[in-house]
Amino acid sequence: MKGNLNIQTENIFPVIKKFLYSDHEIFLRELVSNAVDATQKLRTLASRGEFKGEMGDITIDVVPNHKKHTLTISDRGIGMTAEEIEKYINQIAFSGAEDFMAKYKDVSENLIGHFGLGFYSAFMVADKVEIVTKSYSDAPAMRWVCDGSPNFTMEEDSRTERGTDIILHLADDCQEFDEEGRILDLLGKYCRFMPVAIRCGEESYWEDSDTEFDEVDDGKGGKEKRPKRVEKKRPRIVNNTEPAWKKTPSSLTDDDYRKFYHELYPMNFEDPLFQIHLNVDYPFNLTGILYFPKVRKTIDPNRNKIQLYCNQVFVTDSVEGVVPEYLMLLHGVLDSPDIPLNVSRSYLQSDANVKKISGHISKKVADKLEEMFKNDREDFEKKWDDIKIFIEYGMLTEEKFCERALKFTLLKDTEGKYHTLEDYRKMIAPLQTDKDKNVIYLYATDAEEQHAYIAAAKEKGYNVLIMDSVLNAHFVNLLEQKQENTRYVRVDSDVVEKLVQHEDSIPEKLSKEEQEKLKPIIEGAVDKQKFTVVMESLESDEQPMIITRSEFMRRYKEMSAAGGMAFYGDMPESYNLAVNVNHPLIAKILEETDTEKQSKLVHQLTDLALLSNGLLKGEALTNFIKRSVDIIE
Ligand code: ADP
Repeated sequence: MKGNLNIQTENIFPVIKKFLYSDHEIFLRELVSNAVDATQKLRTLASRGEFKGEMGDITIDVVPNHKKHTLTISDRGIGMTAEEIEKYINQIAFSGAEDFMAKYKDVSENLIGHFGLGFYSAFMVADKVEIVTKSYSDAPAMRWVCDGSPNFTMEEDSRTERGTDIILHLADDCQEFDEEGRILDLLGKYCRFMPVAIRCGEESYWEDSDTEFDEVDDGKGGKEKRPKRVEKKRPRIVNNTEPAWKKTPSSLTDDDYRKFYHELYPMNFEDPLFQIHLNVDYPFNLTGILYFPKVRKTIDPNRNKIQLYCNQVFVTDSVEGVVPEYLMLLHGVLDSPDIPLNVSRSYLQSDANVKKISGHISKKVADKLEEMFKNDREDFEKKWDDIKIFIEYGMLTEEKFCERALKFTLLKDTEGKYHTLEDYRKMIAPLQTDKDKNVIYLYATDAEEQHAYIAAAKEKGYNVLIMDSVLNAHFVNLLEQKQENTRYVRVDSDVVEKLVQHEDSIPEKLSKEEQEKLKPIIEGAVDKQKFTVVMESLESDEQPMIITRSEFMRRYKEMSAAGGMAFYGDMPESYNLAVNVNHPLIAKILEETDTEKQSKLVHQLTDLALLSNGLLKGEALTNFIKRSVDIIE
């Protein structure tokens, strides 16, 4: 029989081919998933007793033929009768090129997968396609041939075996698909976890021979025969039909999860920290495993680690819109038939189902973290440093997650102890509440650099947190919003007496007039653009001069560096130089009548303050060292 395909436009195939050119390798996914579907339909019929024959070997074969420039996909599924070919193949789902274009208007880069294109995607790579098929029912086998024009031929065939062969005669510019290496790559990408075994080519393995032997020393001065190791070949199965995410969580050990992680990411050698196994069937279908990698200090810009599947068929590894942004730092797989795949990304983000799925995943992640926190606090603390960026990022971007996370967020202090927000507040409130009833949380971002300030604060009995993540400035702002009467202050933002301002102040040893006289002398020794000299009444055993940096300015500068708020980023660096009017050396500056000696003393003191902040450099540092040596002499 000859016929005309039911499509309006003269020739749709060039359109298909051109339109999806960038992604034309997906034809293989489409054809192999059809083969999988046909096989699973037969399984279903067998389980219902509607198919009583032998299943036999139902492995799907993918056979590239380099000489003939063909690629054949064979299955032992239900096959098709002549009527079924007429119905499913000849009556093309879409009616013409115009419709097709309208339907896939914003496809090219945007589209997640091109499901529904199905069988006809074969014409993206082939200029002639043959179907040889025999239905599981008694109907005669059929051969259908189409050369890429809307004309086809269909006739009976002598095939006796149940199932379908799809034979692609590859187009001149698509000859790469007759190479086994290329096909293996594609099978590895799209078909790695399909639920029916797929065979392609052969692989080598080594085994003891039954017939050949080597003579080797037996260790007692004699010889003995050992079977020779020989290379053998066996058919290569390219997929894992039962990936871990399809199994019940109770049947899997941590080790199974780890192994599966490395199966997913063979190039990733580090073990994940832990995982969440998702398994939902109402109100939508979703399975999957999400792994927490070690996030450490930076946020991996390469976020396309989560792979999206639809019934074990790979769809994409760019899950933007399907999972909340902060979860894109995770690794793993999601499998759902309920995520619409042939729509644009902007549509995806507004899709109600996708929103539900995204919200559900976020909730599951919060559940898991809370459970870990409650069940094994010690272990949770051990993992904290590796997951905190992730949690901070989630809290900053997802309101609901934030509310949940406030319960298990930990603060780490400079002694290495971890505290919940609530416990910590109780602990520091007695000493660190200021005269306005604000509880002051002191923190350092670098325990080495800010060592002197941390020591001074501890001396006062204060506790100092270590907050060193890249998101810190934003995170601290968030915590101040969430916790009432709270201020976060970096230890070097003011002299220790002023970090937590209590009512009582220390009496000043220098009079106001003396302080007025002193100020210009000290200002003469530093860069006035950068440093503002302020007189402070501190304990006499505190340092004579201390450099501080306003919490407000510093935090906004950091936030502008982390993104947005360019205005603050452009502000010049500025510091306060606090002069301790109660320190004996400061009084000595005023008493000194020899101007040269006075200048030496002032410079020595300002330099020491700069040095303690890592701000003394270059010529100034050289001068300081020289001067110090002179003093020793
Ligand atoms: P879809 O798979 O989305 O339905 P396709 O164009 O890929 O669309 O296939 C159309 C129909 O052709 C399938 O639904 C199925 O009934 C039939 N079909 C395709 N490939 C096979 C096959 N290998 N074995 C049996 N039937 C097939």
